[in-house]
Amino acid sequence: MERFAEILVRIHHQRLDRPFTYRVPPGMDVSVGSRVVVPFGPRRIEGYCIGLAGDLPAAAAEVKDIEEVLDDTPVLTEELIKLAGWGAARYLCSQMDFLQAMVPPGVRWVTGKWAAYSGTEEPISAACRYLQEKGPVKLSAWLKQFPEMDAAGVLRRLRREGVITVTSRDAQGMKPRTVREAVLTAEGRRAEPVGSKQALALEILRKDTALPLSHLADAGVSAATVRSLAARSWVEIREKEVRRDPLDGEHFEPEEPLPLTLAQKEALEQISGAINDRKSGVFLLHGVTGSGKTEVYLQAIARTASAGLGSIVLVPEIALTPQIIERFASRFGGRIAVLHSRLSAGERYDEWRRVAEGDAVVAIGARSAVFAPFAKLGLIILDEEHEATYKQDETPRYHAREVALWRARLHKAAVVLGSATPSLESYRLAELGEYTLSRLPDRIENRPMPPVEIVDMRQELKEKHRSIFSRLLLSTLESTFQQGKQAILLLNRRGYATFVLCRECGHVMRCKSCDISLKFHMAGEALRCHYCDYSEDYPRVCPVCSGRYIRHFGTGTQKVEEELLKYFPDRRVVRLDADTTARKGAHKKILTQFKKKEADVLIGTQMVAKGLDFPDVTLVGVITADTAINLPDFRAGERTFQLLTQVAGRAGRGPAGGRVVVQTYTPDHYAILAAKDHDYPTFYREESQTRQELGYPPYSVLVRLLLAGADEARVIDAASFLAAHLEGSTDILGPSPCPLEKIRGQFRWQLVARGSDTDTLLRIVKKASAEFGGSTFSGDVRLTLDVDPQSLL
Ligand code: ADP
Ligand code: ZN
Repeated sequence: MERFAEILVRIHHQRLDRPFTYRVPPGMDVSVGSRVVVPFGPRRIEGYCIGLAGDLPAAAAEVKDIEEVLDDTPVLTEELIKLAGWGAARYLCSQMDFLQAMVPPGVRWVTGKWAAYSGTEEPISAACRYLQEKGPVKLSAWLKQFPEMDAAGVLRRLRREGVITVTSRDAQGMKPRTVREAVLTAEGRRAEPVGSKQALALEILRKDTALPLSHLADAGVSAATVRSLAARSWVEIREKEVRRDPLDGEHFEPEEPLPLTLAQKEALEQISGAINDRKSGVFLLHGVTGSGKTEVYLQAIARTASAGLGSIVLVPEIALTPQIIERFASRFGGRIAVLHSRLSAGERYDEWRRVAEGDAVVAIGARSAVFAPFAKLGLIILDEEHEATYKQDETPRYHAREVALWRARLHKAAVVLGSATPSLESYRLAELGEYTLSRLPDRIENRPMPPVEIVDMRQELKEKHRSIFSRLLLSTLESTFQQGKQAILLLNRRGYATFVLCRECGHVMRCKSCDISLKFHMAGEALRCHYCDYSEDYPRVCPVCSGRYIRHFGTGTQKVEEELLKYFPDRRVVRLDADTTARKGAHKKILTQFKKKEADVLIGTQMVAKGLDFPDVTLVGVITADTAINLPDFRAGERTFQLLTQVAGRAGRGPAGGRVVVQTYTPDHYAILAAKDHDYPTFYREESQTRQELGYPPYSVLVRLLLAGADEARVIDAASFLAAHLEGSTDILGPSPCPLEKIRGQFRWQLVARGSDTDTLLRIVKKASAEFGGSTFSGDVRLTLDVDPQSLL
């Protein structure tokens, strides 16, 4: 019977984003989810098999054959292929883009094909003998040398008969890793060794039976000795697969589940109820920092595992994985799989296969771990669900929470969204009853929430104290050191967010219609709103208090370190920022150093705010909360509240308690006041009211249309073109220049399309983008669509 396959080809072209039909030649073994090579026009290109059928819809004569299957076991499951179809529509990208994001990290496209002799008999032809002698050979080189093999059907026949195997290799060697080991045979066990070298080797092997050759070499047994033993059939040499284990060499103290508090128990019962009933349900676990959310996750995963189902745990950044992984490894030992981008390609490949093959009960990792290919999935957890890093900021621009919800519906799995500061989006759905709200309102052992003290930096200036450290922060640092405790200093720096602030009254220049802080432009000394393109002149004096200290703003971590050492020259300081953590392992090293109390102060960017748990940290200082508040983004208030709450959660984790000092020029901002009181509900009320009034999410849906090109005039024309094609059908913000106006020589402008219904808005934007694709602009201006943008920088 003839068979046909639907192949999605790997070509980046909107109009080719649909499957093409190919014939599966007799004898070829192709599965859905495998990568293949197919003829396409004059070329041979790679693609994914996304479907198989027994008959052909139309025009059978035209159909060409699949040339080659690249994977023995498919790299994608049928579920993930379906997911790509959904994802492409939801995020306005191509299915191929989405598939690429899901492929086990580390699987690269083919760089070459190799032929090997795999027959069981002595080869008869010269070509085969050549292969037998040389081992695997580049296919193209071999065919050049033996052109008769290139004749129609010859190679295919030999492959079908199993005489020749053709495999695809990539530069990174994406294959299971093997080691050669020596295995003692029955004869070897009885043998009388000849000479002392053989005697040593046999003595070692009689203890262990099988040992990698490298271990034997370390023990003083040379390769020649092993060969001599093999020649006498006293040992056999074989290849054994070894797992590339990202946690290799680390030791984790096994840990028992803790007896739960009442609140934890309730949350756990709700979640496991859904898992046992195989009912898809979403739980928003709103628990203050240190309330024991992680313990709930751990026990929910254990129950999921005993129901025979897998769990996925997402954490916002690999940055905080060392500590979290430690806790999971202590509980689940070798049954966890770790998936994140700092692993080597080989490690990621092995971990991915362990999930696919059912060797792991829980996969833990950053955003892309949401694609972990469990055949049976019972639970997906997003820790710190409000984090912006769950949205990918390159194509495909998916949100891991949305993907998690999709997969959970399919698997009838539960989703747990955990946070001390839930996103407005999630909390609103909980309010509407679409999510189940579980609350952990208190810290474990009723430890108090650390007091948060707000320092008014305007007052400091008034009293002629001009340092970046307030007097309160300096004196608190002093007493912290005297008690032998540690401090964390946080600098929420986004270098490019240059807003203008009056140091005397705290006034920040904002756009009147968008309520977004105006961005300072060096050129022309202008202030500009990058939502609606309103602009005004740089003020000489503050429009509110007429003060003359009205300046643009920004300090780096290095500067903070220098300043700190002026006051405390003997203190040991470590920095955690993009510069100091560029190298692999640097992040962990710095944190370990700090944990071992080899440093008194940790200075860092927002990286330090999350997830870390150091019992000896009794002081957290926020150098300036204003950089967060004045980010030119409608989520600035939310981000500030989240940041301050998270950072306050770092203090007083131990019995010694702790305090938090926040410096700011706007001490009356609602986000700061709510964070001071650890009061999420009040914050939520204020924030959601503003969002509703101004029509921002979750009360609307946004799609960002970003245009970039080398010629600014063309970019602006393209933006107007798009605006014209959207006009009438939806509400548009802009066109306006992005706050990051120019990146690597490319001018950037944007439009934000706004609507109340996702499907309608997507349809409108898709249509406009197709018009754009057919216009002359598509040649020199690049259009990027971002559905539900997390940032408009
Ligand atoms: P969260 O994830 O909400 O910030 P954690 O799960 O990290 O909180 O818990 C904070 C601390 O309390 C941890 O040190 C944890 O070991 C401890 N803890 C959690 N649950 C319990 C419990 N039921 N009994 C005792 N200690 C607990
Ligand atoms: Zn504006």
